[in-house]
Amino acid sequence: MSQAANTHRFTNAYYRLVITAGAIVFLFSAYRLSVEVIDGHFLLLALITISLGARITVRIPGLNGHLSASDTLIFVALLLFGGEAAILLAAAEASCASLRFSKKPRTILFNAGAMACSTFLTVWVLRSGFGSITQLVAGDYTSGLIILLCSLGLLQYSFNSGIVSIVAALKTNQPIWETWRKYYLWTSITYFAGAAAAGVIAKLVTAYNFYALIVSTPIIAIVYFTYQTYLKSVEVSATQAAQAERHVEELSRHIADQKRIGQELQESREHFRHAALHDTLTGLPNRALLKEELMLAIKRANENENSPFAVLFLDLDRFKIINDSLGHAAGDQLLVAIARRLMKCLRPRDTVARLGGDEFAILLQGAEAWSEAANVADRIGKDLMQPFNLSGHEIHTTSSIGIALSTTFYEHPEDILRDADAAMYRAKENGKARYEIFDQNMHKHALDLLQLENDLRRAVEREEFIVHYQPIVLLETKEISGFEALVRWQHPQRGMVSPAEFIPLAEETGLIKEIGSWVLKESCRQLSEWQRQSGVTRPLTLSVNLSGRQFAQPDLVEQVHRILQETGFDPCCLKLEITESVVMSNAENAIRMLTQLRALGIRLSIDDFGTGYSSLSYLHRFPVDTLKIDRSFVNLMGVGQENSEIIRTIKMLAGSLSMETVAEGVETLEQLAQLKALNCEYGQGYLFAKPMEARAAFALLAAQIAESKMTADWLGSNVAPARPKLVSAMAA
Ligand code: C2E
Ligand code: CA
Ligand code: CA
Repeated sequence: MSQAANTHRFTNAYYRLVITAGAIVFLFSAYRLSVEVIDGHFLLLALITISLGARITVRIPGLNGHLSASDTLIFVALLLFGGEAAILLAAAEASCASLRFSKKPRTILFNAGAMACSTFLTVWVLRSGFGSITQLVAGDYTSGLIILLCSLGLLQYSFNSGIVSIVAALKTNQPIWETWRKYYLWTSITYFAGAAAAGVIAKLVTAYNFYALIVSTPIIAIVYFTYQTYLKSVEVSATQAAQAERHVEELSRHIADQKRIGQELQESREHFRHAALHDTLTGLPNRALLKEELMLAIKRANENENSPFAVLFLDLDRFKIINDSLGHAAGDQLLVAIARRLMKCLRPRDTVARLGGDEFAILLQGAEAWSEAANVADRIGKDLMQPFNLSGHEIHTTSSIGIALSTTFYEHPEDILRDADAAMYRAKENGKARYEIFDQNMHKHALDLLQLENDLRRAVEREEFIVHYQPIVLLETKEISGFEALVRWQHPQRGMVSPAEFIPLAEETGLIKEIGSWVLKESCRQLSEWQRQSGVTRPLTLSVNLSGRQFAQPDLVEQVHRILQETGFDPCCLKLEITESVVMSNAENAIRMLTQLRALGIRLSIDDFGTGYSSLSYLHRFPVDTLKIDRSFVNLMGVGQENSEIIRTIKMLAGSLSMETVAEGVETLEQLAQLKALNCEYGQGYLFAKPMEARAAFALLAAQIAESKMTADWLGSNVAPARPKLVSAMAA
C-alpha cells in the first residue's frame, strides 16, 4: 500500500477516534450535569458564547493570531458553572463556530469532539489537582485561584493544540512537533489571556453578582471598540509604512536601473566609438582616428616650433600576389602579423594606423620626430623583411615607405598623407623595399599623374591611340608566325606615351575596358586586311593583351564574339594573352572564363609566365595553349646557369601540359642559340623586330614572304640569290 493511502487511513481513523471520544465525553457530561446549574445566567452565557463568542475577536499585534471571546466565555462557564457545563458549552460553541466556515459534517463533528475532549481532560486534571473549581472561585484564596487560572490556560492549550496538531500533521504529512511549533505555539498566549480574563470576570460575578457583568458590558464594549479602532489605525499606518517602504524600495531600484542603463549606454557609446575609429582586423586605429591625431599634431606644430612630427606611409610590395595565391585568410593573417611587428618598432606615443588593404601609416611625434623618421623607416623595413610563418607557409615580403615631415606647415591631415603617399610611390618606382622622403618634386609628379589621368579620359574620346605590332617568330626558321598587338598613346603634347605608364592608370580608372576593346577590334581588322592581301599565304596569329579588369568583365565573351564577327577575323588565329597573376588570382573563375573563350575557337596564352605564383594543380586545368616565358628570364640567360635552368623547367612543364612556349625579350644571338637548344618553339624580341606601326610591320612581313618565295624559286631554278640577312635587317 502506498504511503499516501496509509496516511489517509490514519487520518480517517484519527477523525473517528476524536469524534467518538468527543461524543462519549459529551454524553457523559450531559449525564453528570446537575439540573440546577442550568439557570437563566447559564443560558444567557451559553447564548452569548454560541452566538457572539467566535465573532468577538481581538487581534494580538505582532502575532499572526487573535483572541476570541469564546475561549474566555467557556473558561467563565467552567469557573462559574462547573466542568460539565463548560464541556457541553465548548462542544456546542465549537460546532456552531465550525458551521460558519465549513459545511462538512466530519469537520464540524471533529472540532466539537476536539473541544469536548480537551475541555474534559482539562476539567479532570484541574479537579484532581484543585478539587471543586467553583468553590475555589467563590473562596478568598487568591493565589490558589491564580495557579488554577494558569493551569487552566496551560492545560486547555496543551490538550487542544495537541489534538488539532495531530490531524494537521497527518494531513500535511509533516512531523507533529514541527506542525505544532509552526501553527499552534503562538496560540498559547490566547489561552493564558483568556484564562486571566475569565478569572477577572468570574471574580467580578461572584463578588458583585452576574448583573455587574451586564452593567460593565458597555464599558467593556467601549474599551473593546476603542482598542479595535486603535488596532485598525495601527494597521493602516503599518500598511502605509509598508507601502512607503515599498515605494522607497521601488524608487531605489529605479534609480539603480537608471544608473545601470546609463552605464551601459556609456559603455556602448565607447564601444561604438572604438569600433568607428579602429580597424576590425588588426585592432589598429583606422584612417579616421589617424586623421584626428594628425589634426592635433598639425595644430601643435603650427603653434609651437618645438613640436615637429613625421608621417610614414607604408605599403607592402608583394601583398597582392600573396593574397591572390594563398587566399584571403592568409592575407588577413599576414596583415595582423605585420600590425604586431609595426607596434613593436614604435614608442608608445607614436601611432600606427591601418588605412585599408596593405597600407599602413605611422605618426611620429616629439622633438626628435624628424631625425628619427628615417631610422624608424629603416628599422621597419628590416623587420618586415624577416620571413613570416603563416600556417606552415614561410612568407617573404618587403615594404615601401614614404616619409613626409611637418616642415611645410600643413593645414589638413589629407595634405601630409598625400605627400607621404607620393613619397611611397617614389620608393616603389625606385625599386621597392626602401624608403623615400617627400620633396616638392614628388608633389609635382603626383600632379602630373592627375593630369595624365584627365588626358587619358580625353584620349579615349579623341581616339589618340594606335596599335603597334611586334612579330613573333618561329625560332627554327625565323619565319614570322604572327604579331603581338601593343597599344600606343599619341599624346598631343607629350608625344608617344608608353603603355607601362598609362596602362596601370587605365586599369585603375576602368578606362582600360574601352581602350582594350578598341585595341582588339583595330588589330583584328588590321590582320584580316593583311590576310586578304594577295601574297600572304600563311595564316598569321594575332596576340592581344587582356588586362585583369577586362578579364573580369562578365560580358567579355560576347564582346570578343561580336568583334570577331564584325571584323571577319578567324577565331583560330586570335590568341588572348592574360598574365599569370590575373589567372591565378581567382583560378576557378578564370577556368570558367577561359573555357568560354576557348569555345569561341580562340586560343589562349599565359603572359609573363614565371613571375607570379602558379599553382600546378590549376595549371593543368586551364585550357591554355601557350606559355610566354617572361623577359626577365631570357634577359638573364647566359649570366648564370640557374636562369637557363628556369627556362628549361618551364619548357618541360609546357611540354607535359602540351603547351607551346614563346620566349619574350630575345635580344641577343646567344639567347637565341640557347633557346633553340632548349627546343623553345617561338620567340619575340628586339633581336627580330621592335614593335612597329602597321605599315612597317606589313612591309616586313611582305619582305619575308617575298624572300622565302625567292628561295623557293631559287631551289627550283638552282640560281643562287643574295643571302637573306633577316635577323639583322629586322633588328635594325
Ligand atoms: P607585354 O605584354 O609583356 O608586352 C611585351 C613588352 O615587351 C612590350 O612593351 C614590348 O615592347 C616589350 N619588348 C618586346 N621585345 C623586347 C625586347 O627584346 N627587349 C625589351 N626590353 N622589351 C621588349 P610595351 O609595348 O611597352 O608594353 C608593355 C606592357 O603593356 C605589355 O607587356 C602589356 O602588359 C601592356 N600592354 C601593351 N599593350 C596593351 C594592350 O593593348 N592591352 C593591355 N591590356 N595591355 C597592353
Ligand atoms: Ca603580352
Ligand atoms: Ca609579357
